[in-house]
Amino acid sequence: AVPVSIVVGGGRAAEFGVLFRKGEALQTLSGIDLVVVDKTGTVTKGRPELTDLIVAGGFAEDDVLAAVASVENRSEHPIAEAIVKAAEARGLVVAEAETFESVTGYGISANVNGRTVAVGADRFMEKLRLSVDAFADAAERLGNEGKTPLYAAIDGRLAAIIAVADPLKPSSAAAIRALQAQGIEVAMVTGDNFRTAQAIAAHVGIRKVVAEVLPEGKVAAIHDLRGNGRKLAFVGDGINDAPALAQADIGIAIGTGTDVAIESADVVLVGGELTGVVSAIAISRATMKNIR
Ligand code: ADP
Ligand code: MG
Repeated sequence: AVPVSIVVGGGRAAEFGVLFRKGEALQTLSGIDLVVVDKTGTVTKGRPELTDLIVAGGFAEDDVLAAVASVENRSEHPIAEAIVKAAEARGLVVAEAETFESVTGYGISANVNGRTVAVGADRFMEKLRLSVDAFADAAERLGNEGKTPLYAAIDGRLAAIIAVADPLKPSSAAAIRALQAQGIEVAMVTGDNFRTAQAIAAHVGIRKVVAEVLPEGKVAAIHDLRGNGRKLAFVGDGINDAPALAQADIGIAIGTGTDVAIESADVVLVGGELTGVVSAIAISRATMKNIR
């Protein structure tokens, strides 16, 4: 959804699937020394799948999954799609949820067939004054496997720990290595669980990770990472990445991401892969060399 009229930067870049939406981006990008990437949908595919469901004593797997899916059916989050799909694959009935509530960056809740069902991150359970200690070992294991642990509560009792896994995009690791080989530091910012983020980062060779960032905290996180006098590019795909894309020295949107992200960016990667960042920087450096 990139209007052709605002695409500048010429044919070379387009051949590599890189669209420069602003002329000065070519120059700014050539001086970048730090690339901060969003995790979900940028490093990973943004299409998680349910991998684990462990219920607490007194709860039955199918009953919990059906209840949770009924709430998630009202959410637009990629996690929601994973859970609804898993419930349907098991042939469970996804019911109509009422009084649905979404707390951005935390989780969601609703009434399902007369029961109150909440699902979300550990910090959401804390908000609801529920301890997740019973699942501490499972959470540690799942996080270390790069999976996102979620918790379900039914009528004020912790009912299950659920994990979703979001596969890496195939070229993410190679792209990050190529950036580092050019002397560019790469860092990751995400709203996801700390352990999960660490595991994903380790897989693609990123050493600096800022995790469990609330949507409104992404801008502050990139300012902290930039420190003094560094030139920073931020790469993201989501609605919640738009402010960071606009605030960075260069905002780079994943072309397969949301329109809001694309409209906030200086550069768009049509192919949707991080290798586009490598091409974009190479093109900008080559262009600036020719001009000078
Ligand atoms: P990100 O897109 O980086 O994962 P979000 O702010 O969208 O960041 O979400 C942060 C966390 O909040 C998720 O990792 C998850 O634990 C929880 N969460 C958000 N939405 C939902 C949902 N619909 N169902 C369950 N958990 C959710
Ligand atoms: Mg994202």
